[in-house]
Amino acid sequence: MRITNLNPDKDIGASAWMLELEGHRLLMDAGVHPKLEGHGSLPLFKAVDKLDVDAIAISHCHHDHVGALPVAMRHFSRAHVFMTDLSFLIVERVLHNSVNVMQRQKEELGIQEYPLYTHDELDELSSTFTACRYNRQFEWAAYHKSRTGGVSPTLEFLDAGHALGAAGMMVRGKKQTLFYTGDVCFHDQTILKAARFDDVKADVLIMETTRGAREPKPGFTRDAEIHRLGDAIKRALKRGGSVLLPVFALGRTQEILAVLSILMREGSLKRQQIFIGGLGRVFTEIYDLEAHRTHRNLSSLRLDEALELSVLDRKTLDGMKLNGRIFVITAGMMTEKTPAHELAARMVGEARHAIFFVGYADPDSPGGRLKAAKHGETFVFSPGTGELVKNCEMDDFDLSAHANREELLEFVGKVSPHTVFLGHGDEPARAWFEQQIRARYPKMKIHQAQPGVTIEA
Ligand SMILES: [Zn+2]
Ligand SMILES: [Zn+2]
Repeated sequence: MRITNLNPDKDIGASAWMLELEGHRLLMDAGVHPKLEGHGSLPLFKAVDKLDVDAIAISHCHHDHVGALPVAMRHFSRAHVFMTDLSFLIVERVLHNSVNVMQRQKEELGIQEYPLYTHDELDELSSTFTACRYNRQFEWAAYHKSRTGGVSPTLEFLDAGHALGAAGMMVRGKKQTLFYTGDVCFHDQTILKAARFDDVKADVLIMETTRGAREPKPGFTRDAEIHRLGDAIKRALKRGGSVLLPVFALGRTQEILAVLSILMREGSLKRQQIFIGGLGRVFTEIYDLEAHRTHRNLSSLRLDEALELSVLDRKTLDGMKLNGRIFVITAGMMTEKTPAHELAARMVGEARHAIFFVGYADPDSPGGRLKAAKHGETFVFSPGTGELVKNCEMDDFDLSAHANREELLEFVGKVSPHTVFLGHGDEPARAWFEQQIRARYPKMKIHQAQPGVTIEA
């Protein structure tokens, strides 16, 4: 098989892997790079022959995995598009929202090529998406190519436990097999249960490495971390401050809301209004509606009933007094022009307020710069805000939706591939995995595939 990493950058970037297997081509994921703009944020589709791609499979509905899907479909117009049935319920919302964001960026930041696709185009394309169940094998190669009656390669989605609908992909050919982790979580989150990647064996493994540079804290438990967060929120509210939890709309929002509902149910936090974003609201409703179909904990929890949720619109935000409020709001990395960015800019200078991170923030994003800044000192938050002084409380809570590095390393051993591709991670994260895999499994070949480079495996 031949594998091409289409991520335009060397960091986490935009996920997109082209697989060539026994005369067939499968594109796995079509993300956009969260830090790059315009055409530069897209995967390197141009490096691949247009007509020869049989299928596109999407691991989950985060932007770095699905944001370029309509562009990919324009390039590879014959390809069928597959995703899990839970992703199928989410994907259109994600992509329509992304059209809105791009339109706003065109107006506010003057990025002329935006939007990269339109609402009308999306409506047309989405009617061709195929919804698949977890743990079912189906043929993905173009029907016309199999006229010799040979066996077509198959694809199977396995529950990745990362966000609603997230999947790893098992690809089986006549002679070779490949497994792609997508984004994976090997431990239970508050809502979603751990990945079900049991008994996965493959010749080639493509894996995420998000947390490769993160050393596990000794004695860490998720429950203790949840209560540490609860105590911190309580302290901030008590001193008249507000609490901002910057999150992604899909997955992080619902997990954090579930954490708050538990803390409120047990009396650790007083019940009060919680502000969320419009898109966060939509996905919260889908989490509630699909509770029975999801491999999850707390399946009787309906976030919308358990909590007093209010959607925060721009107008309300502008005039709002920031005393004793809780915000669970986008974006997770506090990208400019998002409510989390605007709130943080207002909160960061005052000691009574608290900003609590509960997920990954790229060091080069406003969130990452805020994390890195020293208390009491000035730092540049974003080009729009310029320098700010960091006086608010800030902390980082480890409630990740990504596997710990030790768990992933063990998984590599179980899958027992002859070749491993390290992706979806910053340089130090990939380096840690490369070193560890070399030491533990010395026979495996390891590739940190560079953008646009094709590797025979
Ligand atoms: Zn993800
Ligand atoms: Zn991702």
